[in-house]
Amino acid sequence: MNNNKKITIVIPIFNESATIKHSLTVIHNEIKKIPHIDFNILLVNDGSSDNTLDVLKEIPLSQLTMNILNFTRNFGKEAAIYAGLEYSKQSDAVIVMDSDLQHPPFLIEKMIIFWLNGSEVVEGCKLTRGRESLISNLFAKSFYFVFKKLTHFDLKNHSDFKLLDRKVVIAYCALPERKRFFRGLISWLGFSTTQIFFDVPERQYGQSVWSRYKLFRFALHALTSFSSTPLHFISLLGFLCFSLSIIIGGIALYDKWNDQAVSGFTTVILLILIVGSLIMFGLGLIGIYLEQIFDELKQRPLYIAQQDKDQNK
Ligand code: UDP
Ligand code: MG
Repeated sequence: MNNNKKITIVIPIFNESATIKHSLTVIHNEIKKIPHIDFNILLVNDGSSDNTLDVLKEIPLSQLTMNILNFTRNFGKEAAIYAGLEYSKQSDAVIVMDSDLQHPPFLIEKMIIFWLNGSEVVEGCKLTRGRESLISNLFAKSFYFVFKKLTHFDLKNHSDFKLLDRKVVIAYCALPERKRFFRGLISWLGFSTTQIFFDVPERQYGQSVWSRYKLFRFALHALTSFSSTPLHFISLLGFLCFSLSIIIGGIALYDKWNDQAVSGFTTVILLILIVGSLIMFGLGLIGIYLEQIFDELKQRPLYIAQQDKDQNK
């Protein structure tokens, strides 16, 4: 009987007709060197609008089990990763990697060794971020800084290049939330993790499909789905406004009593300050309830229990 472990490599693909054939050849050459593992490659075609699908169908990788999951339209990388994991729950482990070789395939073997030695998650971390503009670099750094401050999860240099044990895949797919941030949620699940570092190579063909605007929206979603702290800023702002109101209101009243105020000015300023503070307080209060609703709606489990290693066998 074949006791080989089964690993599925999930590759999200969007408009990669220029690179996918070459990438798969490189990945194939790497994995065929690894003994005692049965590999399956699951290509998730995320609604490519070029001829990626035709290219995929033509690839003659006979020794390799390769499946294509074809989306009706572009649902985004997060959805493609989720679908890939959902379809791979039977595998002993899943490796998620990009289709443009920016996640070096030669690291797959190293990842598997860490996994076989007991790591439930092996994550590829970027040692250097490859060639990118100063603005993109600054944007990424600020995002990870704010994310860490707000959520206490340090995702600096993390990537979507990960090996996940079957139980991590099952736990990830069982999370009920719909909009997902793969990197963040895998950290949130809290399974034992080993990090391996790599330099991000240049993309050889095609180009990144992430515009600055798309990245900004993604970052905003990642932050807001992991932290409701920004909602508390409104309450804080309300408190600051109220304190300021007391000072400015006091000055306005003092001026009025000393006949130094223009007629009607005190009433106007007091009204503005009182109404402004009340609105801020009201918004803060709504924010507190919104936070509760938001947390309940996500329905994240209250805990993830760690099974005893011997129990798993
Ligand atoms: N991708 C996807 N759906 C999208 C955008 C990207 O499946 O809507 C895939 C893409 O084909 C690649 C990976 O996600 O395999 C990373 O994309 P890209 O190289 O454009 O991003 P970057 O390397 O700049 O993060
Ligand atoms: Mg890329």
